[in-house]
Amino acid sequence: MSTGKINVTTENLFPIIKKFLYSDHEIFLRELVSNAVDACTKLEHLSSIGEAKGELSELQVEIIADKEAKTLTIRDNGLGMTTDEVEKYINQVAFSGAEEFVKKYDDKEGAGIIGHFGLGFYSSFMVSDKVEIFSKSFKGGAGAHWECEGSPEFDLNEIEKETRGTDIVLHIAEDSLDFLEDGKISELLNKYCKFLPVSIKFGTKTEKPAAAEGEEAVEVVSDNIINNPSPAWTKSPSGLEDEDYKSFYRELYPMNFEDPLFHIHLNVDYPFNLTGILYFPKLKRNVELQKNKIQLYCNQVYVTDSVEGIVPDFLTLLHGVIDSPDIPLNVSRSYLQSDHNVKKISSHIGKKVADKLEELFKKDRAGYEAKWEDIKVIIEYGMITDEKFFKRSEKFALFQNVDGECATLNEYKEKIKALQTDKDGKLVVLYSSNKDAQYGYISEAKAKGYDVLLLDSPIVGHLLQKIESEGDNISFVRVDSDTVDNLIKKEGELTSILSDEEETKVKEFIESKVNKEAFTVQFEARDSDATPFIITQTEFMRRMKEMSATGGGGGMMFGEMPDSYNLVVNSNHSLVHKILNEADETTRGVLISQAYDLARLSQNLLIGEELTNFIKNSYEKMA
Ligand code: ADP
Ligand code: MG
Repeated sequence: MSTGKINVTTENLFPIIKKFLYSDHEIFLRELVSNAVDACTKLEHLSSIGEAKGELSELQVEIIADKEAKTLTIRDNGLGMTTDEVEKYINQVAFSGAEEFVKKYDDKEGAGIIGHFGLGFYSSFMVSDKVEIFSKSFKGGAGAHWECEGSPEFDLNEIEKETRGTDIVLHIAEDSLDFLEDGKISELLNKYCKFLPVSIKFGTKTEKPAAAEGEEAVEVVSDNIINNPSPAWTKSPSGLEDEDYKSFYRELYPMNFEDPLFHIHLNVDYPFNLTGILYFPKLKRNVELQKNKIQLYCNQVYVTDSVEGIVPDFLTLLHGVIDSPDIPLNVSRSYLQSDHNVKKISSHIGKKVADKLEELFKKDRAGYEAKWEDIKVIIEYGMITDEKFFKRSEKFALFQNVDGECATLNEYKEKIKALQTDKDGKLVVLYSSNKDAQYGYISEAKAKGYDVLLLDSPIVGHLLQKIESEGDNISFVRVDSDTVDNLIKKEGELTSILSDEEETKVKEFIESKVNKEAFTVQFEARDSDATPFIITQTEFMRRMKEMSATGGGGGMMFGEMPDSYNLVVNSNHSLVHKILNEADETTRGVLISQAYDLARLSQNLLIGEELTNFIKNSYEKMA
């Protein structure tokens, strides 16, 4: 038996480890299980190159919790260690790793970096009073026993051990006893070890398969294997069917009952290593509540589900996995975001996603159009936030009109250019944010032969701003932002049949009856059969307010301003002449109020008490 002192320069490392990783104690299990898995795959490798002789038997890792003894054992039948190797790998290598880790992050913000790799074997002291190693090398010879009680002193001696491999025995500390609960262990194994490449056993499971007719069902007890050692992303895409991708999706998110829309299999080996599968999910209305996230793995070991910086922002709504040994895991988030390799990975993923969308669009346009409604938020968000993606999206971003017809922007420009170019040669795209609420305006535009897009996502203001600013002599106007003749200004204007004095007089009448704070009364010479009163809200004002509501952009200062509208009066309509010529003040008031209410009604602006009164008055007039 030998007793020694671990070579420490930092006075007592263990209390620091304990305190330091306070928030993330649970990673100890991931570290120990992945060491055990490493021991198995190393042995497999040695055997394959002829350095380990004989039958390997099935390689396996097992987790054993003993509540009475308060121990948690991580057992593997991998390559094992001799006493010399324990001295070298545990006392020197592992320790120097741990020491370096603590030094590096001693006075930095803890939480951001923790949970990522770097501490390894010694993380076991976060939950243990004492840790023991029992190991026997595949090379034979005596077994090794190492024991340490969370101080720099350790014991190392030779023992008899029959079976190859290593048992790491943790004597769980009083404040960490919940790590002995089956439920807790299962949860952690499921989170961190679900796709490790060697089978991992935790207890047994009992099943009762349906028996044949007339026979009694018999319980079958078998090993409970908690992982899938060869998940879909590690396989070659050519060997996988659509159904395989869907079933892997269900494996990743067992609580999600909706199939994904499509997947992207990533497979890069130069200039960095990256594999993975990304899914376009069917997004729920409330994206904030989205629970399923992209999971980041390192050689099949789960690391985190916060992938900011690693995938472009707009793709963080996707689901799936990314596995890369090249993403530095033991560093802080801000470092990650400035890392060169990570930037390359992010832009590669952005490009891959764009390629896939283009491919889907080209291969099966109808199928792609059918999915548009579900994917447009992600794509539009990408167009606004990612310059490269904006350029690429030209090939697959769709614009859908109120009748459900889809077109790319270039196709659409072609389609409308004959009728919707104004007198200055600018192409005017009309859109509606709500088919029902703006029905009247849409009908008037259509009657003129115009096309109207349906643009109803919350971020549309930002998107239009972006497209317009690309400077292609194009502008977007919502159908209700002006009267139909003014939406697209053409040569030649109708003249008013009201004289200036008559107009001033009618204006005074009207202003005395409407809310002047909210409505500016304007006159316009329109067709005599066009609506007499119409309410519009300028595109600029409304868009700025909308943009300010969804954040960012130049709309900030507009958010606080009250809504203001134009009440546009058609000076050529007979009703306006009736108002002008009506001598009785009460009758004139009724005419104005009724027309004003109708105009507000068609813009959803007549609400509450005023709406109730309007309905009541209308019935009274019928009686
Ligand atoms: P890392 O895994 O990054 O090398 P660790 O601190 O986790 O660092 O482990 C240190 C070393 O201890 C490993 O590199 C390995 O040589 C050895 N080791 C740890 N656990 C085992 C095990 N179960 N079987 C064999 N060797 C092990
Ligand atoms: Mg390790």
